[in-house]
Amino acid sequence: MTEAPASPNFGARRGGARPELVVLHYTGMASCAAARARLCDPAAEVSAHWLIAEDGTVEALVPEEMRAWHAGAGGWAGFTDVNSSSIGIELANPGDAPFPEPQMTALEALLGAILARWGIAPQAVIAHSDMAPGRKADPGPRFDWARLARQGLAVMPAPGGIAPPVTAAGFLGMAETFGYPEAPLEVLLAAFRLRFRQRHAGPLDATDMALITDLALRFGADGGSWRSS
Ligand SMILES: [Zn+2]
Repeated sequence: MTEAPASPNFGARRGGARPELVVLHYTGMASCAAARARLCDPAAEVSAHWLIAEDGTVEALVPEEMRAWHAGAGGWAGFTDVNSSSIGIELANPGDAPFPEPQMTALEALLGAILARWGIAPQAVIAHSDMAPGRKADPGPRFDWARLARQGLAVMPAPGGIAPPVTAAGFLGMAETFGYPEAPLEVLLAAFRLRFRQRHAGPLDATDMALITDLALRFGADGGSWRSS
């Protein structure tokens, strides 16, 4: 006999969808307990599959087979009902704090297990801000994506000698190939930098172009290299 899920906020994955993405979030609340209460409150109508506290405690809130309510409007690599096609992980963090070592270690163990369990590629581990540019900013500029990438749990660009021309159309095209949904240049550029060029500001430049081009060429979904549907 299995225990009842901690959160009542879930449904069936639609259209036979299975998890093909992992979306990382921060809770943006003062405490993990407050976040847990909200993620389990039927009136809030939000949830995630997993919640990881600052001390590394991992709690399952919704079974991975089910559709949790963490992503909302947005898209990635052609997925438009991201909740049906993803697993959501909430990291307890008020939004402006560093992510403590025990929390990152717990996330790495959990991510490794999820990717193996569902056959998910590292390029399909994304930020909430990636799939909802302009609307969401989590897990934010303090999250260490390079650390995950070093362990094969996410991807980072390594552009080498790539030097494409700096054009808005070029950037937007490569961003779409990598997986980003359609959005204006300034919105996409901000979302891209939040993850791949943290704390950088200013107009589109050669570094942005080299980074997004490398991501698109090596990890883009257009080639069908990782998307199963
Ligand atoms: Zn989020």
